[in-house]
Amino acid sequence: MLIGPQNLAANVRKVRAAIAAAAGQCGRNVDSVTLLAVAKGHPAESVRAVAAVGVEHFGENYLQEALPKIASLAGLELTWHFIGRLQANKTRAVAEHFAWAHGVDRVKLAERLAAHRPYHAPPLNVCIQVNVAGESGKAGVAPTEVPALAAAIHALPRLALRGLMCLPPEETDPARQRHWFALLRGAFEALRAEGHHVDTLSMGMSGDFGAAIAEGATLVRIGTAVFGPR
Ligand SMILES: *Cc1c(COP(=O)(O)O)cnc(C)c1O
Repeated sequence: MLIGPQNLAANVRKVRAAIAAAAGQCGRNVDSVTLLAVAKGHPAESVRAVAAVGVEHFGENYLQEALPKIASLAGLELTWHFIGRLQANKTRAVAEHFAWAHGVDRVKLAERLAAHRPYHAPPLNVCIQVNVAGESGKAGVAPTEVPALAAAIHALPRLALRGLMCLPPEETDPARQRHWFALLRGAFEALRAEGHHVDTLSMGMSGDFGAAIAEGATLVRIGTAVFGPR
């Protein structure tokens, strides 16, 4: 569904206000939470309108959809995050066209991203995806597997391990939402305690970003609340 630029700007204002309120409620600085606008299913013109009100970070799930959009917006200096399911046959395009990859859950994927990252580009920012609820069919490592994968990524060239990402089960009860986010936060704090300089907790979407911010999210991935329904 296509919404006009004015409505998109209003949506961004509302989401920013909600992020600020959630941060304020737990005594966090609003600047510690970055809005990542998830543009899947929405055209380049909508991204342009959202960028025009100051949003810099955009997320995409599907390469076929993302690559032409990224190319047509190349003049805007946006930061693109690949948040879709990462597979071996996608690593080259992700390493060449994105600044971030959020779905790393295997050493082999990390190795391929490192090998394909162009030499002239800054390191590719990487988040390890964690399957916090152990759901079958969902991407991500178990929380216990995070340290080994983090060590492997750290040893690779041209990648910067930035933190952890999760896509928890859909919950409507804020206490249940927080339960899963707290689990990711625990794994994140354990990484820091081991000496990894990670700074990114990528968690929270349109329906649960308040709970994610309460548990320490530094980057919230918001599609519907910014761009409208897909
Ligand atoms: C689509 C998607 C989002 C955004 O979801 P909304 O509910 O529309 O905010 C966030 N993260 C990932 C990984 C997604 O695939």
